[in-house]
Order: sequence, then C-alpha cells, then structure tokens
Amino acid sequence: MHSIKAVFFDRDGTLIHEKPGTYLSDPGKVRLYAPVPAALKRMAKAGFHFFIVSNQSGIGRGYFTAKEVHAVHARLQQLLEPTKIEEIVFCPHAPQQPCNCRKPATELGEKLIKKYHIDPRRSFMVGDKKADVLFGQTLGLRAVLMTTANGKNHLKKYPELKPDFVASDMRSAASYILKEDANHE
Ligand SMILES: [Mg+2]
Ligand SMILES: [Zn+2]
Repeated sequence: MHSIKAVFFDRDGTLIHEKPGTYLSDPGKVRLYAPVPAALKRMAKAGFHFFIVSNQSGIGRGYFTAKEVHAVHARLQQLLEPTKIEEIVFCPHAPQQPCNCRKPATELGEKLIKKYHIDPRRSFMVGDKKADVLFGQTLGLRAVLMTTANGKNHLKKYPELKPDFVASDMRSAASYILKEDANHE
C-alpha cells in the first residue's frame, strides 16, 4: 500500500489566533495567522497532506456544542481555500473526563494514520503546547513547537520538553519541514 506524508496541526494558537483563556465558538471570529495560507501552499506543493487534531474541551465543559465546532471548521476551511485540510478531528471531553482522545493521548492520530496510510517517519506535528509535542513524538512524528500562543511559556515551564524544532511562525515551521523532507528524499 502506498503511503502518504502528512502535517498534523493543532488548531487554536497554531493556525488561528487564540485569545488566552477564551474558547472560540463563533465562526465570525476565526482569524488565521498571516503566514499560514502561503506556508500551507508551499507544503502542499511538496506533496504534504493536512490534518487537524484539536482538543475542544469547551464542549465537555458545556460552553458550546459540537455543531458550533463544525461551523468554526467550515469557516476555517473557507479561509484556507484553495488549500484543503483533509480531515479535522477533535476531542470533545473536559480534562477530568477519562478518554483516549485528548492530546497528548494519541488515539485520534492513530486513527488518521491508519485511515489515510500516513507514514509517520515522513510526517510532522505542529502545535503550540506541550501536549502537541508529546502527541507528535509518541506517534513517531517530528514535532514543531510554535511560539505563537502558549509555546514560549511551555518551553520555560517544561524544560524536559524537547521539540524537534521551535518556530516563531508558520513560515519558519514550513521551511523546517521542507528542509527535513528534502533531506529524507
Ligand atoms: Mg493550541
Ligand atoms: Zn477525548
């Protein structure tokens, strides 16, 4: 079976602006970080497939519904056009609810890897939190920590955290990924 290479993204604070301490549920408030569209185009051109794995504990906390999350994702896809995220998956649980899908747990990633025949060794995870780095590295992906939202704090707070690359924006993350990819071919 032919396998593909993929970039898994975190959503809030990675692709779209995150207001600390708030939960985004209004499609009208989705704002991409400026370097994101061009960076994703470059990676798509190099043959990468895109996925989003997101923790949406606001559902489990009762702040909003899965329906609102789907509306946010429809808006996100629209803003990224013509680039497409092939599938967006999320954990709806609150942190205190036992589950296997809240990052850093890897169940959602394992399912995508199986379903799309993704080769972890040629693939990457990009996110702004410790949970994103651990999620990626546990799955055998290379993990990029974005310093856009929570990344700076998490690097300081968790000195044991060893992301494969630290990126100040998506342009820099894409350059790292494309360079690593070229070394692999
Ligand atoms: Mg995030
Ligand atoms: Zn979950």
